[in-house]
Amino acid sequence: MHHFTYKHGVLHAENVPIPDLAAKVGTPFYCYSTATLKRHYDVFRAAFGKLDTAIHFAVKSNPNMAVLRLLANWGSGFDIVSGGELRLVLQAGARPENIVFSGVGKSVEELELAVRSNVGQINIESESEMHTLSTLATKLGRTVRVALRVNPHVDAQTHAKITTGTKENKFGIDWTLTPDLYRKAKALPGLDPRAIAVHIGSQITDLKPFEDAFLRVRDLALMLRNEGFNIDHLDLGGGLGVPYDFSAIPPPLPADYGAMVMRVFGNLGCKLSFEPGRLLVGNAGILVSKVVVLKTGIEKTFAIIDAGMNDLMRPAMYDARHEMIPVCEPAANAASADYEIVGPVCESSDKFASDVTLPTLAEGDLVALLTAGAYGAAMSSVYNTRPLIPEVLVDGDQWAVVRRRPSFEEMMALEQLPPWLA
Ligand SMILES: *Cc1c(COP(=O)(O)O)cnc(C)c1O
Repeated sequence: MHHFTYKHGVLHAENVPIPDLAAKVGTPFYCYSTATLKRHYDVFRAAFGKLDTAIHFAVKSNPNMAVLRLLANWGSGFDIVSGGELRLVLQAGARPENIVFSGVGKSVEELELAVRSNVGQINIESESEMHTLSTLATKLGRTVRVALRVNPHVDAQTHAKITTGTKENKFGIDWTLTPDLYRKAKALPGLDPRAIAVHIGSQITDLKPFEDAFLRVRDLALMLRNEGFNIDHLDLGGGLGVPYDFSAIPPPLPADYGAMVMRVFGNLGCKLSFEPGRLLVGNAGILVSKVVVLKTGIEKTFAIIDAGMNDLMRPAMYDARHEMIPVCEPAANAASADYEIVGPVCESSDKFASDVTLPTLAEGDLVALLTAGAYGAAMSSVYNTRPLIPEVLVDGDQWAVVRRRPSFEEMMALEQLPPWLA
């Protein structure tokens, strides 16, 4: 469910007409809907019945300050993966105790910043990191709550580039090694190991891999408890998929995911935390673009739009498909044609869709790529010296640019010629 719908013949974000935004902001731009984000947040929160749960939004999926501020206002915690994200969420209003620090290669400087900031939990991904953190915490006179992130050897059945829980992946500690590391962690000063963390991948569209991983986590928790460890907290990661391609089988609903979680962990008496990213923001954002050129070749008609792979990387990176719709609502009997939807970047992988049938497009038409709120702006770059595109937040009838397009001068501000070339 989202709040990007046609009203009076044009696409709106809640009550704001998209053509008005395009005229004022210029294309391409991202547009986020507060009501959609709130709805997803509430639905996910409600999925776990009476279980004691907490949400830590995965910041990497959408690090926009306004989005983070909304989530902080609603009481969400945050899952961060860098020192930059830590500083960002603190600025957005996060409470330190509601921050979980994940990440496979945290630097000593990042760990120190996290310990000094009193983050609620640090997820340890290797024995080496465990020792570094213990030394650091001891030096700073602190005790840090830690989880060991296990790699449960479960294939998430998602795109290879976003699966994280198999033996081949760099993430987590092999689950068979975890008990031994737990014993070591318990013996180290400055660490308070009470939790187990797991995250097996992203855009997962089947409950089975989640359940397989969660059963392993439960077994591990029971085993460690039998040894006398006080395991009172499980961090179950994110990864639940969202519908991108509306002709495919839809991913499980949060309620089904919640029912499975209750089945696995219902009587364990552990606090459970979740790190959803995509599920909360994916549907809450669209990318608005303009058709720049229509080019008819011998085999195909190319619709070249002004958004490129540098603005929305997912199709090039993950073979992802985003539904594209015209901003002006087509008549029911509108003529249609087959298009290759591509961007202006000088790469053949700069392609959003192949052989899609759409109502006939004209140059200058506005189009919207849907479900672009997660890993969209977050992964964008300035490749081809294209400025990062603006982000707009809508709330009812209100809207604001929450990240503006930089000027060329701002883009160049970090460049300097060496003295011998100046
Ligand atoms: C990326 C990531 C998430 C979020 O994944 P989504 O698929 O966006 O829900 C959660 N936890 C960790 C540790 C991650 O790396």
